Amino acid sequence: DVPVPGKVSTRYDLEKETELRFEVEAGEAVEQVELELLTGMAEVFGSELNRNKKYTFGAGSKIAVFTWQGCSVNLYGKPEVAYVSKDTPMLLYLNTHAALEQMRKQAERDNERGPRVMVVGPTDVGKSTVCRLLLSYAVRVGRRPTLVELDVGQSGVSVPGTMSALCIERPADVEEGFSVQAPLVYHFGSTTPGTNIKLYNKLTSCLAEVFSQRCEVNRKASVGGCIINTCGWVKGSGYQALVHCASAFEVDVVLVLDHERLYNELKRDLPHFVRVVLLPKSGGVVERSKECRRDTRDEKIREYFYGFRGVTFYPFSYEVRFSDVRIYKIGAPSIPDSCLPLGMSQDDTQLKLVPVTPGRDLTYHVLSVSSAEDGEEGARKGIVESPVCGFIVVTNVDTQTQVMKVLSPAPRPLPRHTLLIMDIRFMDMK
Ligand code: ATP
Repeated sequence: DVPVPGKVSTRYDLEKETELRFEVEAGEAVEQVELELLTGMAEVFGSELNRNKKYTFGAGSKIAVFTWQGCSVNLYGKPEVAYVSKDTPMLLYLNTHAALEQMRKQAERDNERGPRVMVVGPTDVGKSTVCRLLLSYAVRVGRRPTLVELDVGQSGVSVPGTMSALCIERPADVEEGFSVQAPLVYHFGSTTPGTNIKLYNKLTSCLAEVFSQRCEVNRKASVGGCIINTCGWVKGSGYQALVHCASAFEVDVVLVLDHERLYNELKRDLPHFVRVVLLPKSGGVVERSKECRRDTRDEKIREYFYGFRGVTFYPFSYEVRFSDVRIYKIGAPSIPDSCLPLGMSQDDTQLKLVPVTPGRDLTYHVLSVSSAEDGEEGARKGIVESPVCGFIVVTNVDTQTQVMKVLSPAPRPLPRHTLLIMDIRFMDMK
């Protein structure tokens, strides 16, 4: 219990099965808040705290410190909000984990595959947090589950506008979340599935296929199963996308957070062997404004180029000749059915690669570097379904010299020359 110089410290004695919730103010030049476990045991979203270690949380953090047995903790600094709650759904979440673990044990015994779980609900009900919790609990008992991230607005794995999968090998770090090594990432290109629902469903199927292939050759991955985080859009095509995902991944369990109608609809529309479970949301989940979401997205891109907390990256800036790359947008604007060429459907236009002529308006756009082999027309076909190997941001375009300047995590040259444009822009203020 060594004080942090210049910071007030507040001690909280927590009874068993209660949680301390605190928020750090958002914005720049905000004082960080440190957390220290003094006695007993506690966890943050499923990851255990070490005693007498100070964990630092920066601007905008919203944290819950939960204890099963009781504990005391210190907070150093001035959180915007801090209170203890006795009313948490943690026991229900733990029971859910226990049920999933039973399914994994059974899968092990019967040489079957482990549970594939889809977490759904409207925005701000704590979907990502429940995913993190279930994944951390699973790894803590020795499993190797896979996180499938389908939330294109707030991806926990890669930059916004992507859909991805990540094998989880250790519990999330208390301060930094899951270690992101070698994720499988696909380019979607915007922050809401509605901009191109066909592409969204197509990439969901791609991820499901790759995951299933991996399960065939890796028994631990198969038994570990997957936890799928979805978007908060649960009506119309958003709902259809959930049904599509359930079928593509052949999910066994759907956890519906805080939405009775969605629960009933899914029970009605999914095959009877899928267990659909309604779970309450935690009162601690904080609603986030549009601005807050945008800031989080920006921060995620900044992290990709510049690093996070203790790890600083030094990105490169260099020029790329227009003639050295091929830039595409996925999806042509839809045209009336009656105007479509014979034999072509609306689906084809949404998955079509449209060449982009570099111009000033390319500035600040995030571009995905496709892993597809560079090649001519014939090779174009596989581009939509190819994972990406990284991202660059266009920082300047010179149409006179036919050159654009890019921000890149690696030095030149680009590993591949097929680039996919996102709707998402990033202005580098560094
Ligand atoms: P989205 O709509 O973006 O998909 P979501 O439903 O996935 O949101 P989360 O990202 O899980 O919601 O949670 C929203 C915020 O609430 C996060 O910052 C998270 O850290 C915080 N949070 C979650 N549970 C708690 C809790 N019990 N106490 C305090 N804060 C919490």
